[in-house]
Amino acid sequence: MRPSFRIAVFLASLAWAAPLAAPAAAKEWHAPKLPTKGPAEIFGGPANGCIAGAQALPPDGPGYQAVRLSRNRNWSHPQTVSYVRDLGARAQAAGFAPLYVGDLSQPRGGPMRDGHASHQNGTDVDIWFNLNPKPPLPASQREIIEIVRLVTADEKRIEPATFRPEHVRLLQMAAAPANVDRVLVHYAIKRHLCEIVPQAERGWLRKLRPWVGHNEHFHVRLACPAGSPNCQPQAAIPQGDGCDATLDWWFADAEERRKAAASAPPATRPRQTAPPRPKLPAQCAAVLAAP
Ligand SMILES: [Zn+2]
Repeated sequence: MRPSFRIAVFLASLAWAAPLAAPAAAKEWHAPKLPTKGPAEIFGGPANGCIAGAQALPPDGPGYQAVRLSRNRNWSHPQTVSYVRDLGARAQAAGFAPLYVGDLSQPRGGPMRDGHASHQNGTDVDIWFNLNPKPPLPASQREIIEIVRLVTADEKRIEPATFRPEHVRLLQMAAAPANVDRVLVHYAIKRHLCEIVPQAERGWLRKLRPWVGHNEHFHVRLACPAGSPNCQPQAAIPQGDGCDATLDWWFADAEERRKAAASAPPATRPRQTAPPRPKLPAQCAAVLAAP
C-alpha cells in the first residue's frame, strides 16, 4: 500500500473510531430519554442504525457494575443485555472482581454526541480492563472510575505493570459465545496475545480485532439477533487468527500515522477527509419520532 493511501485509510479509520464533533443528527438522538415500546428490533448497522424496544442493562448484577449511568447509554437489544449479564456471572464464577460495564447504546440508538461512531444499534458494549476489587458504590457514585491502561504511552507494547493473565482469560471468555461477532482491542494487545497464546490454542484470537484506542476497555460487538431482518451485519472478519502482516501494518506506520494526523492542514484533518456516513435506514425516522 502506498504511504499516502495508508494515511488516507488511517485517517478514515480514526474518524470512524472517534469523530471530533457530533453530526447534527446526534442532538436529536440524544433527546429521547426512553426507548420505544413494543418488541425489540434493530434497523441498520452498528455505525448507522437504531433500535426499537431497547432494554436497560440493570445498573448492578452478579459480576458487574454499570458505570457513568448519567450518560443514559445503558440501553440495548435484549440479546446484548443477556450477554453482559452472562459474562458478569461467568467472570464472577471464575473469581474476578466485578467488571465495569461502560456504554451500550442510547434509548433508541442512533448517532451519539461524543465518544463513539458505533454503538448505534444495540449490538455494541464497552467493558473496562480494570479488574481491581471495586467498592460497592451506588450507581450515582460510579461516574468517575479508576482507569487501567494496558498499553505503553508509545503504543508499541503492553504495559507490564498493569497487564495480567486475567486479562487474557477475560478476553477469551468475552469472545467465546457464538453470538459474539468480534471484540475490538488495541493493536498492541492483539500482538501481545499473538506472542503469548500457543499456536495450537489461538483459534479464539480470530475474533479479537486490532484497533486504535481500546487500551483501557475492550469493545464487544454481537451479531445481528434473530427477529431483526433489517439489522445490517458488518463485513465478516477474515479467516485465521490475524497474527500476521495485517497486524504488523498497525506498527509499521505508527509514527508516520501519528505525524500525518498531527500535521495535516485543517482542510484535510480526519473529520473532513472521512467519507460521508451512509444515511440511517428509513425506519429510524419512525423510531425517533415514536412517543
Ligand atoms: Zn465501544
